[in-house]
Amino acid sequence: MSSYAPPVQRLVTELSKLPGIGSRTAQRLAFHILRASGEDAAALAEAITEVKERIGLCEVCFNLTDETRCLLCQDPRRDHGLICVVEEPSDVIPMERMHEYGGVYHVLGGALSPIDGIDPEDLNIAELFARIAFPDGEGAVHEVVLATNPTTTGETTALHIAEELRLRAPGLTVTRLASGLPVGSDLEYADEVTLGKAFAGRRAV
Ligand SMILES: [Zn+2]
Repeated sequence: MSSYAPPVQRLVTELSKLPGIGSRTAQRLAFHILRASGEDAAALAEAITEVKERIGLCEVCFNLTDETRCLLCQDPRRDHGLICVVEEPSDVIPMERMHEYGGVYHVLGGALSPIDGIDPEDLNIAELFARIAFPDGEGAVHEVVLATNPTTTGETTALHIAEELRLRAPGLTVTRLASGLPVGSDLEYADEVTLGKAFAGRRAV
């Protein structure tokens, strides 16, 4: 039985749903928010509401954006013929942090996992094939880098896409990040040096 007033307990409960936040940390954060000014607490609540209301997915690459196309897809200085395929929008951040990648992205929205009922049609895979459908046209795609996570589901996804791309666009270069990333972990947690090496050492698949 909780000894907190119900509104405090509600805040602790909601905070403890966040990843990496145990009940102790949730309590500490709740008391921090209670001590904060009304203004700061309202700013936090508004920021949460605003991202949920205004942030959607880019119509081209499915990265997060508050416009129809994300800033990366809108940037004319980037190589739009080089597409890096990642599982989640959060995977774009470590790729950008290494400052070696000048192409664009394609966010799948997850990884293939037949056991969990996640099939190709549940991910943004058809949309990727549509992007490489005209290999000789203007703004043609010359390379697809498969940067799914070095996990079983990530590897399965990379293999599936590589096979399909070979059939659909035989002339297209398809590469996979070099091994060296911690196996079983998420790209999201890779440091930029390790990721930079994995990118530089990417190999054709
Ligand atoms: Zn985009």
